[in-house]
Amino acid sequence: MQFQELNLREEILMAVKERGYDEPTPIQEKSIPSILLGRDIIGSAQTGTGKTAAFALPTLHLLKKHSHTRCLILTPTRELACQIEENFAFYGKHLDLGLGLIYGGVGYGPQRQAIKNGADVLIATPGRLLDLLSQKALRLDRIEILILDEVDRMLDMGFIEDVRKIVRQCPKKRQTLFFSATMPDTINNLAEWALHKPIEISIGMRVSPADTVDHALYPVDAMLKFDLLAYILKKIEDESTIIFFQTKAGADRIAKWLRQHGKQNIAVMHSDHNQRDRAKALQDFKDGKISTLIATDIASRGLDIRGVQHVINYDVPQHSEDYVHRIGRTGRAKSEGEAYTLFSPDQMDKVQAIENLIGQEIPRRLMEGFKYRIPPMTDIPGKAATQQKKRGLMGRGEKFGRKRR
Ligand code: AMP
Repeated sequence: MQFQELNLREEILMAVKERGYDEPTPIQEKSIPSILLGRDIIGSAQTGTGKTAAFALPTLHLLKKHSHTRCLILTPTRELACQIEENFAFYGKHLDLGLGLIYGGVGYGPQRQAIKNGADVLIATPGRLLDLLSQKALRLDRIEILILDEVDRMLDMGFIEDVRKIVRQCPKKRQTLFFSATMPDTINNLAEWALHKPIEISIGMRVSPADTVDHALYPVDAMLKFDLLAYILKKIEDESTIIFFQTKAGADRIAKWLRQHGKQNIAVMHSDHNQRDRAKALQDFKDGKISTLIATDIASRGLDIRGVQHVINYDVPQHSEDYVHRIGRTGRAKSEGEAYTLFSPDQMDKVQAIENLIGQEIPRRLMEGFKYRIPPMTDIPGKAATQQKKRGLMGRGEKFGRKRR
């Protein structure tokens, strides 16, 4: 299918062409016609599938020209909000529409101004939007299109009640577009409540890692984790790397240690940092000014960062889906990426949950050349592991069972 067949306005097609897209992705092909018809949509799709354009292009088409705030997009993080805004700004560059970004951690002034200017599209995180609603800085009673993006993430982050409160303030008669990578019961209930006869579209749900990512578990005693991390970073030199942490404190601590070890071209990104610092860290990483980004899961979902060569999970992620999201930062498009997950025995349950989700066993490896002063646990249960072991194959790293120092 060609973009021309989707009946989008010429101004939008021009922007799509300037963006260099040849043809719609499957989610765009399926959602755009239904959205143009005014239908509600439930899309099970993650970032990376072209989801943003799937809702942005038809929304821009329907809004057509500047009037008043008619479209509200709720998204879990500030970074995603900025990314969506960039997309709308680009696809809508030949249209006369106003955009407004609403998120916490920054001053209220410019956001109030955007609201006053009657931004046609407001892109918001739930907390700040509720703040502004309670201050009566805006009303949602003329919203025509409501887009709930990354709903499962909003659930994880404890925003679901906030989302409900916001939805209640929108008119009953509206078009609602709902996107979530996963559909647990809570989310299904929310969808049933918020949507009217939705069309369900499930595409590109990537519950397995891309083939272009070479990923493995590296068992290591907790005492040696930092040493192993430092060793990996040395080995991969200054190639672009994201190191994921479960906790903000962990991320800060490791950044401090790495700096003390002489590694300066790093930045930390988590929700305790102010928005300006987070945006700068992300931009510096995207621009290649820093090679290593240390982040909590705020960066694992959604963010479209190209050319990440390595992902290191300092801990096994708490939520299985985050494993796929985290390692999905690398190996995007057709480029090859490598993902390392440092693993200590107390995290076995989490590994099993991840393997159940992705339907495959993650190869177990030892890091070649690393001095395991404390022998790691190599006896990690798993059907495939046993088979691999029998065949003596443990992936590209060193074999388990080899004599270690
Ligand atoms: P998203 O899922 O919206 O985060 O999009 C993932 C990436 O795919 C972004 O870099 C988009 O610019 C890109 N993209 C979106 N639609 C298309 C398309 N039709 N053809 C090629 N790339 C696309």
